[in-house]
Amino acid sequence: RIAYVNGLYVPHGEAGVHIEDRGFQFADGVYEVCEVRDGHLIDETRHISRLIRSLGELRMAMPMSRAALGLVLREVVRRNRVRDGLVYLQVTRGVAQRNFLFPANTTPTLVVTARATSRAELEQRAEAGISVITVPDNRWDRVDIKTVGLLPNCLAKEAAKAAGAREAWFVDRDGYVTEGGSSNAWIVSAEGRLITRPAEFGILRGITRTVTLEVAARLNLQVEERGFTREEAYAAVEAFVTSATLGVMPVVRIDGRAVGDGKPGRAARELRATFHSVAEVAP
Ligand code: PLP
Repeated sequence: RIAYVNGLYVPHGEAGVHIEDRGFQFADGVYEVCEVRDGHLIDETRHISRLIRSLGELRMAMPMSRAALGLVLREVVRRNRVRDGLVYLQVTRGVAQRNFLFPANTTPTLVVTARATSRAELEQRAEAGISVITVPDNRWDRVDIKTVGLLPNCLAKEAAKAAGAREAWFVDRDGYVTEGGSSNAWIVSAEGRLITRPAEFGILRGITRTVTLEVAARLNLQVEERGFTREEAYAAVEAFVTSATLGVMPVVRIDGRAVGDGKPGRAARELRATFHSVAEVAP
């Protein structure tokens, strides 16, 4: 495997950054994960736009132009011979003597990796559906920025694993589900309406979430962008999560309780089947 690190393509096992990189010291960095399908980046434009937004919120600049970054992403995908998989990119504020204050003039660190994933395995998982548990949302309130500070997410997903589940749903102090540890959360009401929390409040604006809203419109499915409680989720007829890694992934159990009939729901299956005809396929 090959990784890109600050201008160089290096063997994955030898790739590294400096011990005083602010990404390492302070989680002072942001990232993106983009799906690769049939050798093409999916929704690249939106992912890079969100990257620029995340960087801006932390007063960081793009490490290179959009066009140049696009070339690097493609080169990493090509060098790793990824047809179906993921490309990961991370930008940190760069290397500086350890000090909380932002350094005056640092060069940002850019790392890009790619790996293949099995489409067949993912489809199998989607046919079975996944289990989720709920955990208190103990994250900071800038989860709209896609930072590499993911320790609460790691802990939540570890708790899920210990409970035999794949994902954890964060629940805020008022009992409302915010989002998953690495996905956005959705339910379907008895009336057949898709319900997902507005992106303005306490969640990451998932790219897959945005595209799924478009897919829902295409399928004439009604959507309510509003918060929903854990109890409402227990009573939902279906549930699913969305992320670049999983696509639209049916949820069949929440905290050990079957969702609906305990099988992937119709809306989730339709959204999944239609997703890639709506998502942007980059050249
Ligand atoms: N929410 C969180 C906390 C995430 O980490 C992710 C993806 O990693 C998402 C939502 C889904 O975002 P996207 O659809 O852009 O992958």
